[in-house]
Amino acid sequence: MDVILFGPPGAGKGTQAAAVCEALSIPHVSTGDIFRRHLKEGTPLGLLAKSFMDKGELVPDSVVCDIVASRLAEADCQGGALLDGFPRTVAQAEMLYSWLDGQGREIGTVINLQVEGSMLVPRLSGRRTCLGCGATFHVSHNPPKKLGVCDRCSGDVVQRNDDLEETVRLRLYTYERETAPVLAWLKPKGTVYTIDGSKSIAQVQLAILGALGI
Ligand code: ADP
Ligand code: AMP
Repeated sequence: MDVILFGPPGAGKGTQAAAVCEALSIPHVSTGDIFRRHLKEGTPLGLLAKSFMDKGELVPDSVVCDIVASRLAEADCQGGALLDGFPRTVAQAEMLYSWLDGQGREIGTVINLQVEGSMLVPRLSGRRTCLGCGATFHVSHNPPKKLGVCDRCSGDVVQRNDDLEETVRLRLYTYERETAPVLAWLKPKGTVYTIDGSKSIAQVQLAILGALGI
């Protein structure tokens, strides 16, 4: 089953993804993670993506859609995948649904994590991310056991460039303008569960797994 984890930057998508993927035995497909991996490897795609990410803007649809289609075609995604951070525009949603349709696949569920705007800036500017495996932490809500060291892989835990407060505000503006309208497009297509993402990490996880019937 393909599942979309939808919500603004800072809603908790990345934080909740591991539990959902484990419960459904599907891989986590995060477009942001894919771009950051390319950037780390210094590929042309990584450098192109960085020019948009650093400004809080979206990478162009044509680039993102090609990447997602080839990732979803890989062997480990044949039983479905958890999409995190995609689709982020109506054009991306249209492409996704038509591509899945062509493959005889469909989105089983959309989980919409709803978090009040005023919580997002403190969540994002306090977020810290592992350079090794991409795991996310928060300076006060979810700190790593040892300062600056990832609990999962012992990699370095740092602040993402685009989590500096000025860029965070630009990203939230981009979300309102380009991504929030995707929800209205998704609703008539099938099951959208809206979950209160402002609760604790454990409570949100329970609510998501409950909505998925796990
Ligand atoms: P997204 O992937 O949606 O952009 P993240 O999962 O990276 O968001 O979460 C953003 C920040 O908020 C991280 O620092 C994370 O530790 C923290 N966070 C996530 N969920 C919660 C929650 N329910 N309560 C408090 N902090 C949270
Ligand atoms: P994220 O890790 O989901 O917060 O994404 C980080 C950044 O990567 C975003 O601010 C965008 O610049 C870019 N990005 C990630 N996913 C997409 C997408 N689906 N469409 C366009 N840009 C994206």
